[in-house]
Amino acid sequence: MSARPILWIVIPCYNEEQVLPLTAPMFLKKLRELTEADRISANSRILFVNDGSKDRTWDIIRELAASDEHYIGICQSRNLGHQNAVLAGLMEAKDRCDITISIDCDGQDDINAMDRMVEEYLKGAEVVYGVRSRRDKDSFFKRTTAEGFYKLMKALGAEVVFNHADYRLISARVLEHFAEFGEVNIFLRGLVPLVGFPSTTVSYERAERLAGKSHYPLRKMLALAFNGITSLSVKPITLITGCGVGFSVIGLILMIWAIVQSILGKTVAGWTSTICIICLLGGIQLISLGIIGQYIGKTYLEAKHRPRYIISARTWESEERRWREETAPETEGKNA
Ligand code: UDP
Ligand code: MG
Repeated sequence: MSARPILWIVIPCYNEEQVLPLTAPMFLKKLRELTEADRISANSRILFVNDGSKDRTWDIIRELAASDEHYIGICQSRNLGHQNAVLAGLMEAKDRCDITISIDCDGQDDINAMDRMVEEYLKGAEVVYGVRSRRDKDSFFKRTTAEGFYKLMKALGAEVVFNHADYRLISARVLEHFAEFGEVNIFLRGLVPLVGFPSTTVSYERAERLAGKSHYPLRKMLALAFNGITSLSVKPITLITGCGVGFSVIGLILMIWAIVQSILGKTVAGWTSTICIICLLGGIQLISLGIIGQYIGKTYLEAKHRPRYIISARTWESEERRWREETAPETEGKNA
């Protein structure tokens, strides 16, 4: 039998001091179960990515790392957002493991789906998407906005797996190719399918957050949706062009009508219609300019090629540093 794959579970954490002590042991238990069932290598790890938390999250991660070798962590230099945190973790993992599973740290995504994900990988899938079968634990508002989001994305030409967020298994092989997607606007759930390779889905029920509160208020969700659409599709610009053509045709017909009326000597003081047309077209033009401006803005950001994440610390490096500090005086002593 071939060697068991090394799994790295990648977990973004932002201000999660309340929930991390509850969920971390659950992840470790799952890792042990998978190891004992001989599905994954004993060298598998749980990688926490601290996304510039302002609370004790990083301290907790370091304590965890000191308590068990399976826990490791990296720290981002500041808060860069969920997507960048996951990316940082995946990029850190890709050269050191065979498969990664990214999952939120709040216990909302069913950890038990990992068994099926690994099973699908062993059967040949390189990407396994976790799909929420039911969302009745989410509030009505969250559910309707989130489901509306997937539908809107689809309508606007950005293909995403329905009801799949950021709980997924990706093989190191796929990550190797994904690393070549150098964009700054990262919308993982839309980008991963673009890499290709055999993929499948497993469904799970989404639970409530175990503690703490959501970092995705409506404003952030809208930003994520907009980012997703503009980073995956230029359909909005096509729609604008379509609108422009439609209104031009209507305008032309109105113009001919106006000229005919004028020749027939029936011109009336058309104040209302003029104002209506000016207002309507003015609004549409501004929206259109805004959308096009967003794309230009994105191009501007991409052109800068700024780093997508900056790792300021690693739990295993601090160990190394401490070891170096401890051994340094000794060597000096020997030389003297
Ligand atoms: N998160 C992050 N950086 C942020 C916001 C969130 O790393 O700026 C992490 C957070 O710790 C959690 C995951 O992303 O593990 C999903 O966040 P949350 O549970 O708040 O979102 P929701 O499940 O409500 O959509
Ligand atoms: Mg959550």
